Amino acid sequence: MIDPRRFGRILSLGLRLRCPRCGYAPIFRGWFTLLAVCGGCGLKFEREQGYFVGAIYLNYAATVLVAVPGYFVLDYLVGLSLVPQLLLWGGFCIVFPLWFFRYSKSLWLSLDYFFDPGTREPF
Ligand SMILES: [Zn+2]
Repeated sequence: MIDPRRFGRILSLGLRLRCPRCGYAPIFRGWFTLLAVCGGCGLKFEREQGYFVGAIYLNYAATVLVAVPGYFVLDYLVGLSLVPQLLLWGGFCIVFPLWFFRYSKSLWLSLDYFFDPGTREPF
């Protein structure tokens, strides 16, 4: 049974790039460097090699979920032709995943921690 309050709390921590266990410490140093363990509780962030492949899917899904409806909305509301649309959404599909990179990893970590909190013990 999913506890909605716990799920909301962990998801909120993920969106704020915080440790899903303690919420105390940030999980990134800078833009692209994921810390190995939480500075607050010692939670190991990367369980194994390839652990964050799911984050790539999250990033891709978020990009597509914005770009495809965005294309149709602009086509319907503004009547923007194909070439400007391709330039706009092509650029978007390059920039957005770079910006969303940290959030996708953080959300993936949060979702994993929510569904399987007990398998990753601190060092
Ligand atoms: Zn922590």
